[in-house]
Amino acid sequence: SRSPLRSSRSSSFTMFSTPVKSALDTCGRSRNGTGATSGQVRNIGIMAHIDAGKTTLTERVLFFCGVNRYMGEVHEGTTTMDWMPEERERGITITSAATVCPWREHRINIIDTPGHVDFTAEVERCLRVLDGAVAVFCSVRGVQPQSERVWRQARRYGIPVVAFVNKMDRVGADFERVVEEICGRLDATAVPVQLPVGQEDTFEGVVDLVEMEAVLFADAKGVHARRVEIPAELRDDAELAREHLVECLAEVDEMILADFLEDRTPTSQDLRSAIARATRAGEFVPVLCGSALGNKGVQPLLDGVVDWLPSPLDRGPVGGTSPDTGAHTERHPAATEPLSALAFKVGSDPVWGRLAFFRVYSGSLRQGMIVRNPRSGRDERIENLMQIHANCCEARAEIPCGNLAAVAGLGEIATGDTLCHPDAPIALETIHFPEPVVSMSAETRTGDQRDLLLASLGCLVSEDPTLRVRTDRSSGQTLVCGMGELHLDIVRERLRREFGVEARFGRPSVAYRETVSKAGHADRKFVRKLAEGGQYAHLILTITPRDCDYGLGVEFAVLAEEVPERFHQGVAEALRETAESGVVFGYPLTASLVTVVGGSFDPDESTELAFRAVAGLALKEAVRSGEPGLVEPMMTVEIRTPQDCLGDVVADLNARRGRVVEVDSAIARTVRVIGQVPLAQLFGYATELRSFSKGRADFVAEPLRFERVPREYEKKMLHRA
Ligand code: GDP
Repeated sequence: SRSPLRSSRSSSFTMFSTPVKSALDTCGRSRNGTGATSGQVRNIGIMAHIDAGKTTLTERVLFFCGVNRYMGEVHEGTTTMDWMPEERERGITITSAATVCPWREHRINIIDTPGHVDFTAEVERCLRVLDGAVAVFCSVRGVQPQSERVWRQARRYGIPVVAFVNKMDRVGADFERVVEEICGRLDATAVPVQLPVGQEDTFEGVVDLVEMEAVLFADAKGVHARRVEIPAELRDDAELAREHLVECLAEVDEMILADFLEDRTPTSQDLRSAIARATRAGEFVPVLCGSALGNKGVQPLLDGVVDWLPSPLDRGPVGGTSPDTGAHTERHPAATEPLSALAFKVGSDPVWGRLAFFRVYSGSLRQGMIVRNPRSGRDERIENLMQIHANCCEARAEIPCGNLAAVAGLGEIATGDTLCHPDAPIALETIHFPEPVVSMSAETRTGDQRDLLLASLGCLVSEDPTLRVRTDRSSGQTLVCGMGELHLDIVRERLRREFGVEARFGRPSVAYRETVSKAGHADRKFVRKLAEGGQYAHLILTITPRDCDYGLGVEFAVLAEEVPERFHQGVAEALRETAESGVVFGYPLTASLVTVVGGSFDPDESTELAFRAVAGLALKEAVRSGEPGLVEPMMTVEIRTPQDCLGDVVADLNARRGRVVEVDSAIARTVRVIGQVPLAQLFGYATELRSFSKGRADFVAEPLRFERVPREYEKKMLHRA
């Protein structure tokens, strides 16, 4: 077998450099060399709208933690975190790499979350394994649509957040307005714990409202933060802001409330602890500011991460189900518990082959141990256990709970899988992925190329759960479905570059879906009389509409005397296969829950084949009785337009079956319009918007939800299908 580290030269991963190793060695590693104790670990993500400065900030964090000795710059293509060639070329962050930074005896694991809207699933999968997040906002553009979306996702996972208002050095920077927007738009108790010293080109540091000191970053690299007295002209503002901080804390923290009622002034230590309690409880968002590019405010932010965001211990147990009984069960973040770990990302590497990234939730993951994957039911040996830092790796004998690990060479691992101890199996709650919204056809010339295409797509799909492959019922073409044009662009490029696939790809188009509008029902039998015995199966199904976010669900509420358990898997698979190729319009069936409520079998004549056949027939019947219809992806668009084009922009949105949700008052004669438009109406929008605004308006769009297609359009599409 391959030695874990010898062949790493031609891999896309290299070894940790000596300074990184020594930095990590000093970072709270316990005596047995197994890493920081869980209480000293912070698993965080940095989330932001594209361009807010997340990559730059991450680079600065690595620099100030001593991991990087030089600063990578996005525009030079030298950043540590963006490690796929496509990312470097495009200058955006696509995959989420994990990296580790030592700070004040703590180990901060940063999971890089992508900012581009086409990759929200990446964000989602990262959020699943984070304990806390830093939300980065641009001081000029404030709360942008993507920040809003990621924020909502973070809330869904109950993730505590620290906000960082970046780019305080830019013209138009407005700290106060951004704080107001976070409170208003994001419905959060966002409270400054710092004030900027200076703004735009005079920005030189922050006032620390907890210590009531100014922190100035005088030298260009910002390495030496100087703590000084608050400048006289900021004194009054700082007093007011501190009062506000104490009042806000008193509303969510009993100890500060007690101080407040008894007219006691809390000490800075009291405040720090109260901020930690309230932030970890999700009731408070401390707001800091700085300039990542200008190296200002990064160290206080790291202090905030360590002081206020939770450790794996603070986050408590993780939930899952027992694969044997289906019962809910929990694992505590303790070394004494049996192993449980969740694969939050699967990627490939030229040397290592398949590489899976895990968060270890309980027990520890050890080199050579046998683990079970409850999805496949298979046991495997951990051969190559590593710690990952962006594009470096280090072999490890053990990764304790609370930490992140990479494992190479696992056979059947997919994103969202659990690894657990075979004697104490658990399937952790899996990751929730959105439905793809665009699709493109792929055609190959030869049979060999077709096989290669399908095998390569299979690989990509196991890495990326928002990528789907299906066959179009009417044309027989292979369709690749994803989260946006850019997403499919990258898939196409990877197929060509990494897998050598030669195929012709069609233009991306909308990925419609079928659904039911009301409950449907079917009672179907499959009976074949043959000379040498017959075939018999009988199912009673219901189908009910549910939230589009949740795709298709299959449940069994049936007695074993009616449909024995040994047929359930076959029935579920047949239902999914039928749903995937569509029933009425030829698009995948989604947003519905199919429940098997009854049926019957014959001990001699019932086979899995018969049950599979009847499942397909029954599903079609149930869908037809449930008023089937089409749903389409709706997008949220944010348009920035000069005031004089506002009328045209709004009229044009209406013509596209869109609706205007919000129009903000003009800032510097630019108006912000938020609207909702079907994705089908957005192809080519960029060009048209540019042409009628003479290049002065721009927009961003992101998936909002699936919505019912109006009847008149549905009829047209039915004719096409
Ligand atoms: P991301 O898309 O969120 O990862 O953002 P990047 O880190 O790639 O930054 C986007 C652009 O903003 C780059 O050109 C950066 O140089 C620039 N930028 C990042 N931080 C700052 C900052 O603090 N001040 C200014 N003026 N520009 C910044």
